[in-house]
Amino acid sequence: MDTLKLMKALSNEVNLQILSILKSGSFNPRELAKILQRDETDVSRRLRTLEKLGLVEGRWVRVRGKNVRIYSLKVGEVKISFEPGQVVVHTSKDRNYEVHLLDDKLPKLETFVGREEEIKELTSTEKSVVIIYGIAGIGKTALAAKVFGDAFWYQMSEVDSFDYLIWQVGLFLNTLGYSPLLEYLRGGRREERDIFELTLDGLEKTGAKIVFDDVHKCLDEQIFRLFSFLASRVRKAKVVLISRERPNLGISDNILYFHLKGLNLKDAYKLLKAKGTTFELSEFARIYHITKGHPLALNLFAEAYQKGRTIKADNFFDFLFNEVYHHLSSDERHILQIISLFDEPLEYEALKALYEKKNVFVVLYSLTNKGVIEKRGDTYFLHDLLRGFVKKVREISEKEYYSKYIGYLLKKQTVKDFLVAFRYAIKLGDEEKIKYLIELRLRRFKLVIQDFPDTYMKSLVQIKENPYAKKELGHVYFHKGFLDKALKLWLEVKDNVDGIHRADTISSLVDVYIELNNPEEAGKYLKELESIAEKSSDLEIKFWYYVELTKFCFYMEKPEDALRSAFEELKIVRKMELYPEIESAVLLHVGDIYIEMEKEEEALKYYLQALNIAEAYSLAFMENLTKMELTKIYFLLKDYERAIKYGKEAAEYFIRVRNYRRATDVLSYRCITYIALRKIDEAEKDAEEMIRIAQSTDYPLGWAGYIFIGVAKMLKGEDGREYIEEGRKHLEKYPWLYDAVLQELGRVFDTSLLDKPGAAPQAN
Ligand code: ADP
Repeated sequence: MDTLKLMKALSNEVNLQILSILKSGSFNPRELAKILQRDETDVSRRLRTLEKLGLVEGRWVRVRGKNVRIYSLKVGEVKISFEPGQVVVHTSKDRNYEVHLLDDKLPKLETFVGREEEIKELTSTEKSVVIIYGIAGIGKTALAAKVFGDAFWYQMSEVDSFDYLIWQVGLFLNTLGYSPLLEYLRGGRREERDIFELTLDGLEKTGAKIVFDDVHKCLDEQIFRLFSFLASRVRKAKVVLISRERPNLGISDNILYFHLKGLNLKDAYKLLKAKGTTFELSEFARIYHITKGHPLALNLFAEAYQKGRTIKADNFFDFLFNEVYHHLSSDERHILQIISLFDEPLEYEALKALYEKKNVFVVLYSLTNKGVIEKRGDTYFLHDLLRGFVKKVREISEKEYYSKYIGYLLKKQTVKDFLVAFRYAIKLGDEEKIKYLIELRLRRFKLVIQDFPDTYMKSLVQIKENPYAKKELGHVYFHKGFLDKALKLWLEVKDNVDGIHRADTISSLVDVYIELNNPEEAGKYLKELESIAEKSSDLEIKFWYYVELTKFCFYMEKPEDALRSAFEELKIVRKMELYPEIESAVLLHVGDIYIEMEKEEEALKYYLQALNIAEAYSLAFMENLTKMELTKIYFLLKDYERAIKYGKEAAEYFIRVRNYRRATDVLSYRCITYIALRKIDEAEKDAEEMIRIAQSTDYPLGWAGYIFIGVAKMLKGEDGREYIEEGRKHLEKYPWLYDAVLQELGRVFDTSLLDKPGAAPQAN
């Protein structure tokens, strides 16, 4: 093994992120790129390197005639030992990595002085939640980085949304070996309660440490609800909040509120010394009096002082910075102005693209050294206290740089970068660009609606009079289940948008009318969509048409027509390529239609294809949805062993990601399968689980558990009547459900016995 190459690969943060994600399973580069919010080509390249180094292993899986590569972790540990004349690197399979990852913006501490008292108090506290508050520039971040340097660092901003934050936390917990939160989010669900509980569970089980920096900037109420929830419940983990104002997270003896003041005299002196500044003691006393030990002020002071100027005392931030600013080179000022244009820290590559000169690294290095800008992770930013000043003297145009930034972001091709680009397009007020970005959303970033609805919505409401934005808002509402709101918006804009946007609106109208049980209107818009699709050569639009046609026919109980249309969908999606999640969904629907037509063998064929794709592309949710259908169908085909196998996998998954509805669906079939096999104990266990779920969620199918227990008792020769009655009572309100349960049960058990009091049939 090439040791140097290995060390280099391991010293790269993104590579470490990849390795830590692979810890939770096998992944296809595409899905991995999605999880990491990075470009797929880049991820593939890295995987190949890691494979060459023997850290991961890739294998080809055959998916409908094509080869798809999936990767998994090959080693669990890398050990380096120094031996005479050589350095040896051992890798082994038996241990896990622990790495920092993702948007981890851990501040770099170049010089840090003093704060002994503070450090002692913060390290020794038993409290799980620590809130450090104090004025800007007083050293909160620096102190927290010193004390909690091994924590996951989350930098908050004005534009933060719950969905984005939680995705990052999910990824972080995943690298610590806790996957349920990430799996839950990947499954597309967003129940606040579930997310809170999963986050808490993940933090407690891993004993994680997280720092949320600049909490005062956050305007999202849901994020504050999460903080309050965690503040009252966390015990083993550590949650640190840094804020300018003291946030109110309720009363709990588990929270340490820590008010940070300036550096003491001794530390302030040390800081100036460390910066290489020399001065008379009387001069120092004056400086301390002016700065009150404020570290940022001291830093600037040291910088300005070196220039041998006399420092005047009034209005001092602007004054100090003015002194420093005017001694910066023109390149330094240029970069500073660029940075001041943006709300968030800028990554190195972005600065390179914006600044366009070769010496970017040198200039950034010099600015960081002077304490003028700061570095977090691989991003650079300007302290808020200085931003105002730079804004005042700024000579460059926002427009030019926002446009360039949008271009840079879009090249990265990730959902996250798309969302930032969209925000800047709105700042630019460029309607054409907004329209163009919304088209990209439709074509390439479909997942925005599912994964980051809140973030997207925040941008959209700023331009809510724009018809294209209205249409997008409709999608967010639809996704969140507010069908009437979505409908209203789509009706409003349908004649004010053109091109692909009109097709999207019309197809959404079909969708929402089907959901609202209004076949007349749905049919009307379907006709309109048909004529649009006929005239268009856009595969996307044609695809939407068939999707709606399939749904409509299925709804109208015309399975043959639905099937024909579904096959058209399949043809198109295969032509479009690279849409594995959509393709597997279509295959699943084909299976469903066959079930409706009572052609189980055919259905099975398509379910297995759907599973094949979902597995190859690590689409966990789709994979388990398919397994759920397979449980059902193998039961119908009396292949009980397989029904149990898939039922086990799917039930475990759905319970893990708290999708109790689906879990109950699976459990009910698995339970009947156990009854068919006369494995009474197992059947009883499943039935009990169903009842537990019904008790906590009120999902009615869960109550069928009582009936199944009753049956199990009867099969054991005991009296099951009490249970059967209990089940019937609960299902009284849902007669169709009761009939359906009895019908499925009837395949393996003589249900007429249910009405014969006390009768106990012979086994088998
Ligand atoms: P805040 O988070 O309160 O706004 P920061 O932690 O960003 O403040 O500190 C402001 C500046 O002062 C930063 O450049 C930081 O590096 C510096 N600084 C803060 N505390 C210290 C310290 N104890 N020693 C050296 N520099 C410090």
